[in-house]
Amino acid sequence: MFTSFNDVRPEVASFESYEPGLSIAEIAERYGLSRVVKLASNENPLGVSPKVREVLCAHAADAFRYPQAGNPRLVRALAAYYGVEKDRIFVGNGSDEVIDLLYRVRAVPGVHNAVAFRPCFGLYPTQAKMAGVEFRQAPLNDDFTFDFAKLRELVDENTTLVLVTSPDNPSGRAAPVEALEELADSLPPACLLVVDEAYIEFAGEGHSMLPRLDRHPNVALMRTFSKVYGLAGMRIGYAILPPAIADYLWRVRLPFSLNILAEEAALAALQDADFRDATVALVRRGRAQITDGLRGMGCDVVPSKSNFMMFRPPAGRQSAQELHAALLRKGVIIRALRSYHLPEWLRVNVGKDEENALFLRLTQEILEEKA
Ligand SMILES: *Cc1c(COP(=O)(O)O)cnc(C)c1O
Repeated sequence: MFTSFNDVRPEVASFESYEPGLSIAEIAERYGLSRVVKLASNENPLGVSPKVREVLCAHAADAFRYPQAGNPRLVRALAAYYGVEKDRIFVGNGSDEVIDLLYRVRAVPGVHNAVAFRPCFGLYPTQAKMAGVEFRQAPLNDDFTFDFAKLRELVDENTTLVLVTSPDNPSGRAAPVEALEELADSLPPACLLVVDEAYIEFAGEGHSMLPRLDRHPNVALMRTFSKVYGLAGMRIGYAILPPAIADYLWRVRLPFSLNILAEEAALAALQDADFRDATVALVRRGRAQITDGLRGMGCDVVPSKSNFMMFRPPAGRQSAQELHAALLRKGVIIRALRSYHLPEWLRVNVGKDEENALFLRLTQEILEEKA
């Protein structure tokens, strides 16, 4: 199969690099700006909690040590916090690692398949491909609500993973828990339903599958410290899983994938209810501010249960691409959704009140140029 030392697996040969959002430094330099606001990656508008910063400084001197394999302190803390057995908890280097390992643990390459909606989080298809697992997608409805019947039609006896994000990225829509329960009940015995709840803290009561896990042993939840906990750069994700699957994930995970500072940060963040509450309050307020503001300009805004909104400019004005570029020139970075195959749409995350106001003011200015 290979004839040269430069040959790689066919799945790898067709891989494209991850297209990250533009960085503040890049945009500041390109347009000679002194202030750039980034509302593109759904990061926490409040940054890192002061208590977590203190803990990170205090533990800097431990960086020469290896972390404790299996991260038992964080596992215990998460189990206590969520009131679940600790043998159901798995933690990894971001949800990214959890997703990657789920494919490799739960799907035999060339035999099993995974099912999700389209569009979906970019890591789902890429890691399926890397694992050699067929990835099937059912389209979301035109208004980005979920057609669970269509999703279910793609499931067969070789489907071992179904992935649903709720609230969804990039739409911000939350799936009704009753529909998720119905889906879970309908799946064949070999299939695990993975609900990615990366943004669940922003959705309010009644949207999480957590209180219903006991009735649905074939459901796993993924969560992250990247959003409401403000630690995207530390790379900490976790999952609540059937104990047998959690056990296998622990066996195959690289022993030290969660670094020693990340673990300390996660422990401190979990205890910092004030920061979490402040983040949720700020996001709720900003979500209303941005949704109302954009609608007032005639934009089409998908109702969001998350910390970001998907929207498109009114017909006859700038296209999404033009608006995106014009905002960049003025120092506001939002997310174009070409990589999600949604070129007409844009995604903006909630920032601080003044950042939201700046984004709205500049968007209005730009749209008025073509009014
Ligand atoms: C942001 C996000 C995550 C979190 O990923 P990490 O690797 O933990 O940073 C997970 N799922 C979705 C859909 C997301 O948008």
